[in-house]
Amino acid sequence: MGFDRLGLSEPTMVAVREAGYTEPTPIQAQAIPQVLMGRDVLGIAQTGTGKTASFTLPMIDILAEGRARARMPRSLILEPTRELAAQVAENFEKYGKEHKLTMALLIGGVNFADQEKLLDRGVDVLIATPGRLLDHFERGKLLLTGIDILVIDEADRMLDMGFIPDVEKICERITKKHQTLFFSATMPPPIERLTKQFLDDPKFIEVARTSMAAATIEQQLVIVGPRDKRKALRKLIKDEPVKNGIIFCNRKVDVKEVYNSLARHGFNVGQLHGDMEQSERLEVLRQFKANEVQLLCASDVAARGLDIADVSHVFNFDVPSHAEDYVHRIGRTGRAGRKGKAFTIATSGKTDTKFIDAIEKLIESKIPRAGKIDLEPPKPKVAADDMPKKPFVGMGPHMPAFLERPVKIARSRQDEA
Ligand code: ADP
Ligand code: MG
Repeated sequence: MGFDRLGLSEPTMVAVREAGYTEPTPIQAQAIPQVLMGRDVLGIAQTGTGKTASFTLPMIDILAEGRARARMPRSLILEPTRELAAQVAENFEKYGKEHKLTMALLIGGVNFADQEKLLDRGVDVLIATPGRLLDHFERGKLLLTGIDILVIDEADRMLDMGFIPDVEKICERITKKHQTLFFSATMPPPIERLTKQFLDDPKFIEVARTSMAAATIEQQLVIVGPRDKRKALRKLIKDEPVKNGIIFCNRKVDVKEVYNSLARHGFNVGQLHGDMEQSERLEVLRQFKANEVQLLCASDVAARGLDIADVSHVFNFDVPSHAEDYVHRIGRTGRAGRKGKAFTIATSGKTDTKFIDAIEKLIESKIPRAGKIDLEPPKPKVAADDMPKKPFVGMGPHMPAFLERPVKIARSRQDEA
């Protein structure tokens, strides 16, 4: 089904065509008409299936009618991280270029003076992380009484990050009747409870869970000794046609270490983790998207849901301890029908084995085991040049005459030829 059958306005379709999209993704095809009809939507679809456009596109058309009032945003989009919030804002700019919608961002790490000015004037779209929004609301800088559309995006990530109580508070404070759009990649029980509490007879849309990933992502499990993980990673990167890749570590300290190690070995690599300044994070993302940086070492929190199209490879430097994270990580590649490869480096230890079992149970299939990979031989303790030269009896200037002679003969033969 083409985009033009979904009921979007012509100006919005112009922007869609300019974005280069020809076919809506399954979640878009199902959600867009429902959102346009004003219905609550509960959309469950994996990372990388185009959930963002499934709410931004119809919202643009709905918000095209009517005007914003001071300090009363007309719609609110909650995102778990500032990167995701910034990404949704980019989406509104891209798809809303034929409209005159106003937008403000309430996210950490940016100066609020300008955003507050925008809010004072009135905005159509407010994109925020839950904590920042509550902050503003509680200081009386913001009214939630004008909200017609509430979007809760990446809900399972909100859960992982402990934002559910904040999300609940926000939902409770929006007393006006409104439309709620709720998106998540997975549906753990606390998320399900939240949807029962705050959604009004929603249209439930679920896109096949793992099949999409399985079809376009080639997965491999590489088992190595605990001391060989970095070596194995370097070997994989060198052997594979890596256009660009994300390397996931479980902990921030490991992100930093693996990043430093790869940089020392001359790889073109950047890092992304929670200890970085917002400006640094956005800059490395920009470089990665612009292909100025080939490899990105990242933690789950920093990289969840990021819209980085067309990543050729994902490397799990650690087996994720939450099985759900595996799905999210490998979902960074093989997006929108492209082919991708995902390698997971593991040891044969008890912990990794337990994590892998959990992942395989969740994805309902076994991750193919790679054959043993040839790691570079360990470096000699002393470099070859510095090795003490064993005196070879009879060689060099002291070469005995009987050895010298055949050489001479050979030479003279050559001369004759
Ligand atoms: P999700 O929120 O489900 O993880 P995104 O909304 O971030 O996914 O979209 C994932 C990628 O797919 C983005 O790079 C986006 O530009 C691209 N995309 C979205 N919709 C389409 C479409 N209809 N056709 C082609 N690419 C699309
Ligand atoms: Mg998303």
